[in-house]
Amino acid sequence: MTSENGFEEIHVLWISEGMSCDGDTVSVTASGQPAIEDVVNGLIPGLPKVHLYNKVLSPTVGGEEFLAPFRAAARGDLEPFIFVLEGSVPNEKINGDGYWSSFGNHPDTGEPLTLNWWIDRLAPRAWAVVAAGTCAAYGGIHAMAGNPTGCMGLADYLGADFRSAGALPIVNVPGCPVQPENFMETLTWVLRHAAGGAPPPPLDDMLRPQWIFGRTVHEGCDRAAYYEQGDFAKDYNSPKCQVKVGCWGPVVNCNVPKRGWMGGIGGCPNVGGICIGCTMPGFPDKFMPFMDTPPGGSLSSMMIKPYGAFIRRMRGITNDTLNREPKWHHDREVLTSGYDP
Ligand code: SF4
Ligand code: SF4
Ligand code: SF4
Repeated sequence: MTSENGFEEIHVLWISEGMSCDGDTVSVTASGQPAIEDVVNGLIPGLPKVHLYNKVLSPTVGGEEFLAPFRAAARGDLEPFIFVLEGSVPNEKINGDGYWSSFGNHPDTGEPLTLNWWIDRLAPRAWAVVAAGTCAAYGGIHAMAGNPTGCMGLADYLGADFRSAGALPIVNVPGCPVQPENFMETLTWVLRHAAGGAPPPPLDDMLRPQWIFGRTVHEGCDRAAYYEQGDFAKDYNSPKCQVKVGCWGPVVNCNVPKRGWMGGIGGCPNVGGICIGCTMPGFPDKFMPFMDTPPGGSLSSMMIKPYGAFIRRMRGITNDTLNREPKWHHDREVLTSGYDP
C-alpha cells in the first residue's frame, strides 16, 4: 500500500539461514532507542506499518505458516518488503553433492532450497536490502581462511553495484554481533525513507552508515587519555590503554565505546575488552592472533612513550597545583587577594 509520498505498510523479511549463529537477531532485541517492539507496534511516528518475519522472533517458527510470506515474496506476490540477511553467503557452486545452507524445502520436490536460491529471488524484488552483522556484510567469522564453504558477504555475492527495487545499494550494518541500536537506528532510517520522510541513508565506500562508522574506536575510547600519556596496560586487570595487550582500536571503525552495548553500558575497551576489529571487512583474519600487540601498536606506543611520559609528569605537577586552594583564602586580619580599588 502506498501513500502519495511513500509506503504506508511494509514487510521486513529477515533470513538468518546464512552461515550464521543468530547472534545479530538476539542482539537487536536489546535495542532501546528504538526498540524493535516499538517499530513493530507502530509507536515510532513517521514510519510505515511494519510486518516483521524473523524465525527467532516468530511464534510460527518452523512451519509453512512462517515460510508463506517468503514464498509469496519470491513469487512476486508480496511487496513492498525489506530483505534483511543475517549470516554469510556460502558458495553453492562448490558444495559437492550436497548443499551448505537451506531455508525450507521445494513444495514439489521436497529438496532443500538454498540460501542462494532465496537471495536470487528476493534481493532483486526487495525495496531495500540490509545486511545485519559482519558475516552478512563481509563474510565474517565463517569466511575466514581455511573454511570449506567459500562463504562471502552479500555484496561479494550480489556485486557492490547492486541496487534494490528502491534504487538503494546494500546497506551494511557490521558488528559481531551488530550493536543493537546501530542496527535499529539504520533500519529506522530506511523505514523513514520508505515512508517518504527522509533521504536515503548516507553510506561510505564499504556501504556502512557514515554517521555510525565514520570514527575509530580509539577516538571514542574512555582510555584514550592513557594512550596519549604513554601509559599502557601490561595485563587485562588494568584500567590503562590496552594497545600493548592486543587492542586494535586506533585503526577500527566502530562507535561502540561511545554508544555502549546495552542501555549505554559497555563498549569493549571501555570495560576491559580489547578491540578485535569485529566490525571490519578484514575481520577476523587480519586481526589474528587476537591477543598479540597489533603491528602498528608497537611502533606508535614506542614513539608516544617519551612524549607521553613527559606530558604526564608535567600534568602531575599542574594537577598538584590545581589541587591546592589559592593562598589568599585565610582568616587573618589582612586582605592578600590582590584586590586593588
Ligand atoms: Fe554470528 Fe557474528 Fe556472524 Fe552475526 S556476524 S551471524 S553474531 S558470527
Ligand atoms: Fe585506543 Fe584501545 Fe587504548 Fe582505547 S584501549 S585508547 S581504543 S588503543
Ligand atoms: Fe567490535 Fe572493536 Fe567495536 Fe568491540 S570495539 S564492537 S571488538 S569493533
